[in-house]
Amino acid sequence: MTASDKPSILGLTPEQLVGAIRPEPLRPYQARQIMAWVYRRGAVDFAAMTDLPAPLRKRLAGKFSVNPLRVARAAKSSDGTEKLLLRAPDGKSFECVLIPGRNRLTACLSSQAGCRLGCAFCATGSMGFSRGLTPAEMAGQLLHLKRLAERPVTNLVFMGMGEPLDNYENVLAAARIVNSPEGFGLGARHITISTAGLVPGIDRLSREPEQFKLAVSLNAADDRTRDSLMPVNRRYPIAELLGAVKRYAVRTGKLVTFEYVLLAGVNDRPADARNLGRLLKGIPSKVNLIPFNSPGKAVFKPPSPASVRGFLGLLSAVHPQVTIRASQGRDISAACGMLKASCTAQPQ
Ligand code: SAH
Ligand code: SF4
Repeated sequence: MTASDKPSILGLTPEQLVGAIRPEPLRPYQARQIMAWVYRRGAVDFAAMTDLPAPLRKRLAGKFSVNPLRVARAAKSSDGTEKLLLRAPDGKSFECVLIPGRNRLTACLSSQAGCRLGCAFCATGSMGFSRGLTPAEMAGQLLHLKRLAERPVTNLVFMGMGEPLDNYENVLAAARIVNSPEGFGLGARHITISTAGLVPGIDRLSREPEQFKLAVSLNAADDRTRDSLMPVNRRYPIAELLGAVKRYAVRTGKLVTFEYVLLAGVNDRPADARNLGRLLKGIPSKVNLIPFNSPGKAVFKPPSPASVRGFLGLLSAVHPQVTIRASQGRDISAACGMLKASCTAQPQ
């Protein structure tokens, strides 16, 4: 598929699609037909939409593209995880990942090309920021991943490159297309938005009507450590962040997931596990421990298996739900924090 400079129809709601064609607008049922072709049946161009009148297909093809992204590179891990490097018409590239599990197939999407939050342990953070992605570019990632998938995609996580709540409107628009019956039809509870801790965004998300899931990358149990790892903590320190998480839990009645990247000697000590347990007391939540994935010449080191076990033991003694995320796709740099989209410039 080639990228096109024509505007994409992806990311539009049925109402927006009806209004996008002038002077003769589409009929609402035609907008639904087009969306079914694209999101359900995987049509990559208008010519394939054979139940639309041929002149309409021609008009559509003259004005619009379907998927604005083209595949620049594809890689498959020995564990089945697949990663795509996609390129937008303006030359920006970003990655997305398809992660198989026993009972699920998870698509991990990027929300920005780069990230401006600059977390010390994250490959995306080290590449700087280009721009936020459009709803079409997020839906376009999912369409490309769906074409690879041999079974239905069951879960979607905004955990690729970028900070979703720093691109709030576009991420919500993309999540709504994925969720809507005319779009991918994936249940809101299967769509997770992960944040490094932008407090106003968490409050805003708590007021949305949909049941999208929230994940918060906590990564440290005290402000000194968190300041040194995540510059965003100086704007929204732990107490403020957890205040927003509690408000979110009360307003939505939902469980929040905390992500905690374990870095050897930095935040994986027994005292850290005990601090974390104290901090999260009374917050209805799950904790996902992620042993650090080393993106090449990193200053941090992965935790030893013994310290992971020790941390898990201490935390699970006081917190009801703690899991270790078995990072998949390490051999193709597709695991958490390894996405860089620099494959063409800097082979990894
Ligand atoms: N910006 C958002 C979403 C993308 S990052 C956020 O930070 O939540 C997705 C997850 O990967 C985050 O939980 C982050 O803490 C984690 N991560 C980043 N770099 C990592 C690394 N090198 N190893 C393991 N996990 C990492
Ligand atoms: Fe950005 Fe998330 Fe990476 Fe931090 S961990 S630099 S917020 S993508």
